[in-house]
Amino acid sequence: MKYIIVGAVAGGASTAARLRRLDEHAEIIIFEKGAYISYANCGLPYYIGNVISDRNKLFVQTAASFNQRFNIDVRVLTEVLEVNPEKKTIKAKNQTTGEEYEESYDKLVLSPGAEPIRPPFPGITNEGIFTLRNVSDTDYIKSYVSQKTVKKAVVIGAGFIGLEMAENLHDLGLHVTVIEMGNQILAPVDYPIAAIVQQHIRSKGVNLLLSTAVTGFDKIEGQLKVNLKTGVSLDADVVILSIGVKPDTRLAVAAGLKIGEARGIWVNEFLQTSNPDIYAVGDAIEFKNPITQQPLITYLAGPANKQGRICANNIVLGNVQSYNGAINTAIVKVFDMTVATAGTAAKHLTAANIKHIVSTTHSGSHAGYYPGSQQMSIQIAFSPETGQLYSAQIAGQDGVDKRIDILASLIKRNSTIYELIEFEHAYAPPYSSAKDPVNMAGFVAENILLERLRIFYWNEMDKIEAGDLLIDVRRNDEFDLGKIGNAINIPVDELRERMHEIPKDKNIFIYCEAGLRGYLAQRILMQNGYNKVQNLSGGYHLWEAATKESNLQS
Ligand code: FAD
Repeated sequence: MKYIIVGAVAGGASTAARLRRLDEHAEIIIFEKGAYISYANCGLPYYIGNVISDRNKLFVQTAASFNQRFNIDVRVLTEVLEVNPEKKTIKAKNQTTGEEYEESYDKLVLSPGAEPIRPPFPGITNEGIFTLRNVSDTDYIKSYVSQKTVKKAVVIGAGFIGLEMAENLHDLGLHVTVIEMGNQILAPVDYPIAAIVQQHIRSKGVNLLLSTAVTGFDKIEGQLKVNLKTGVSLDADVVILSIGVKPDTRLAVAAGLKIGEARGIWVNEFLQTSNPDIYAVGDAIEFKNPITQQPLITYLAGPANKQGRICANNIVLGNVQSYNGAINTAIVKVFDMTVATAGTAAKHLTAANIKHIVSTTHSGSHAGYYPGSQQMSIQIAFSPETGQLYSAQIAGQDGVDKRIDILASLIKRNSTIYELIEFEHAYAPPYSSAKDPVNMAGFVAENILLERLRIFYWNEMDKIEAGDLLIDVRRNDEFDLGKIGNAINIPVDELRERMHEIPKDKNIFIYCEAGLRGYLAQRILMQNGYNKVQNLSGGYHLWEAATKESNLQS
C-alpha cells in the first residue's frame, strides 16, 4: 500500500503516525509546503510574547526524527500542486530545487488546514502588517516587534488568536488596540459572557474598539496608519490581522471533490471525501454539528488530531470507525481570565430555531473558606422540553478548564441538566465545593424547568413597567455602591419582616449580586402568596458587565 498525506502538522502528522502504527509495511509519504512539520501552532503567540522562550520547544517532531521513529518519507518545502483522482497521482513541487514531479498513491489524505483571511484592503501590503498561521509568520513578527521603534500594536479581530496576540504584545510592553467589527469579542461565545471578559481586557489598559470596521492602511511619512470606517485613523507600528480563517479547499476544488454547504471539504462519517480513495481531516473539512445537525467547520487542534487517528483506522482497517463530529469545545487565556465554550451558543440556537432556556450562575472555583477561591460565571443553554444540554460557556480564573471539559463531555453525550445535578466530583476545599459549580448550574436549571425559579434576563429591563416593583435584595452597602434603575432595597434577610411593603398584586422583579439570594427571596415570596415574581438570571454582576459594554457602543 502507498499512502500520501498533504500537510504535516496537526491532522496530517497524526494520520501519518497512526497509519504507520497500523501498517508497518506501507509506503508513507507526507508533503509539507512549509519548512517545519508537527509543530505547536497553538504555542506561537506565547513564543512571540516570550512566555515560551526556547524556539525549539515549538517543534514536537522534526522531519528527521519523524522519519527515524515512523519510517515516513517526509518532504518539507514541497508543495502538492494538484491531485489527479483518475490517475491516482499527485503533482509536487520541490520549492528548493524548483523540480516538479508526480507521485502515485493508493490512498490520499488531505490535511491542508485553513488559510488566514486577508481582505483586499487598500495598503494591506505595507510593511508591518502580519497574519499569524505558521512558524515563518511567527519569526517575522517576533523579529519585527523586537525592534525598539515598535511601540503601538493594532490587532484586527478579537477571536481566540487575536486576543492571545493582544495579551502577548501587551506583556511585551506595547500599547495595544484591538479592533473588532462585531459587537463583541469571541464570536462563538454569547454576549453577556463576552462582556465580562471585555471589561477585564479594558481594565488592562487595552484599547478595545467593538463594532468598528477597518477600511484600509496608509503609510504617511513612515508612519503606518490603520483607517477606520468612522474616518478616524490610528497610528500603528505593527498590525496583526486576525480576522479569521477559511478552509483551504484549493486542491480539493481543483480535483473535483465535493465541497459542502459550509464551504469545507465534504466528508462522510468515515472522513472519506466524495472520492473513495481520498480522505480529508482537520480545519479543511466540514461535518455535521451533532447538536444542530447543520454543517460545521472547527478550527481546532483537538478535532484535527482525533480525526487523523480515525481516518488512519478507516484507511487501513476499512471504514471501521465513524467520526461523531465535534461541538467546538475551546478555551483561551485572556490576561488573568480564562474563557471557555462548548456546544452551540444561545444566539446560534436561536438562529437555528432551536428552543432553549439560558441560565447563568456564578460559583467559587473552590470552597470559599479556603484561600484563593475565585468566582467563575457559567452560562448553560438547554431544552425547555427535555432539559438536554446544548451549550456551556464559562468566564473565570481558576478551575474553568476542569468545568468546561466536564460540561463538554456531557453535552457531547446528549446529556440533560439532570445529569449535571447527579454529576459526582472529587471534593476537598482546595479543589471544589461539596456542590461543584457544575452541580450548581444543574440545580438552577432544574429549578427553572420545574418553575420553582422564574427568571428574566439582563437585557429585559424594559419589560418592567411603571406599576411594577424592582427589588434589590442585596445588603444595604452593596446597594449603595450601585443599583439597577429605580430599584428599592430590601435585603433578603429582612424580607420576611418587611413583606408588608410589597403589594401582592404587582409584578415583582428581584435581583441580587449573583442570583442566589434573589432565588431565596423569590421562594419566600412565592410561598407567601406572591405569584408574579421573577429573578434576574446572572444577577447584578452579569447585568452590570453586559450593560456597561452595551452602553459603550450605543
Ligand atoms: P494545520 O495544522 O494548519 O496543517 C496544515 C498544513 O498543511 C500546513 O502546515 C500547510 O503548510 C500544509 N499545506 C497546505 N497545503 C499544502 C499543499 N498543497 N502541499 C503541502 N503542504 C500543504 N487550536 C486549538 O484547539 N487550541 C489552540 O490554542 C489553538 N491555537 C492556535 C494558535 C495559532 C497561532 C494558530 C495558527 C492556530 C491555533 N489553533 C488552535 C488551531 C489549530 O492549530 C488548527 O486547528 C490545527 O492545526 C488544524 O490542523 P490541520 O492539520 O487541519 O491544519
